[in-house]
Amino acid sequence: MSRKALALLIALMPVPTLADLNVFACEPEWAALANAIGGPYVTTYSATTALQDPHYIQARPSLIAKVRRADLVICSGAELEIGWLPNLLQKANNRDVLPGNEGYLEASRYVTRLDATGNVDRAGGDIHPQGNPHIQTNPHNIAAVAEPLGQRMMALDPENGGVYEANLADFLAQWRQSIEAWEAKAEPLKGTRVITHHKSWVYLERWLGIEEVANLEAVPGLPPTATHLSKLTKQFVSGGADFIVRSPYQDARPSAWLSEKTGIPDLLLPLTIGGTDEAQDLYTLFDDILDRLLQAKDRD
Ligand SMILES: [Zn+2]
Repeated sequence: MSRKALALLIALMPVPTLADLNVFACEPEWAALANAIGGPYVTTYSATTALQDPHYIQARPSLIAKVRRADLVICSGAELEIGWLPNLLQKANNRDVLPGNEGYLEASRYVTRLDATGNVDRAGGDIHPQGNPHIQTNPHNIAAVAEPLGQRMMALDPENGGVYEANLADFLAQWRQSIEAWEAKAEPLKGTRVITHHKSWVYLERWLGIEEVANLEAVPGLPPTATHLSKLTKQFVSGGADFIVRSPYQDARPSAWLSEKTGIPDLLLPLTIGGTDEAQDLYTLFDDILDRLLQAKDRD
């Protein structure tokens, strides 16, 4: 056989099917979870980074193009993305990934939502009317979402279903071991009292027995005001809180100001992967959150 014919034959040979499933995640944690289950058989993309407020991003044309090509869209939901996702879905014109279809997965449907007020009209500016959407701060919630995500990936790409099923089982086994280790390590955090910038941490707090005593935002979604901050100063100047917590995308000035006035240390925690140099994947995200809390507790 001539070299040319051989090259042609090789070119025509079926190649192993890689990256069969296109996953569009609204947040980095869900992209990471899809990667953990899909390995080389998925291509994932996250619409937001840890340095952006997932409540508010622009529905850019590049995002519309990604949704158009997606086989599966996974988002936290509970109205976290209501300011931009409906617009993306409408413009992308991809029926398969519309809510209600197999290609759309709302992660927060699979966990017990905290803070549900039933305020459907977002009265008073509350941007969490359907319950708190920041579910990724409890690793049990990540496990609860992994199952339906894996099932959905198997249904959408049955050819690689066996791989997804095996990877999902491996991930859950390793994840459960990590949860046990985190829970043991976090024992000293029980009873810690925190003031948080936004209501971003309610799932972490419930998980570890941390008490949230106030927020810098008077209502979730309303930026901290001078009036509210001076009220908090009076309330906490003689104690009552151990830390003031914020995430990388939040304005550092309100927590720095309150820290200076009250002497309560302020603390940066990664809300998702990429929020700090240390939080590089799902495992190191929780490692880093706990390390930062425990180090701050030690200094306290
Ligand atoms: Zn929020």
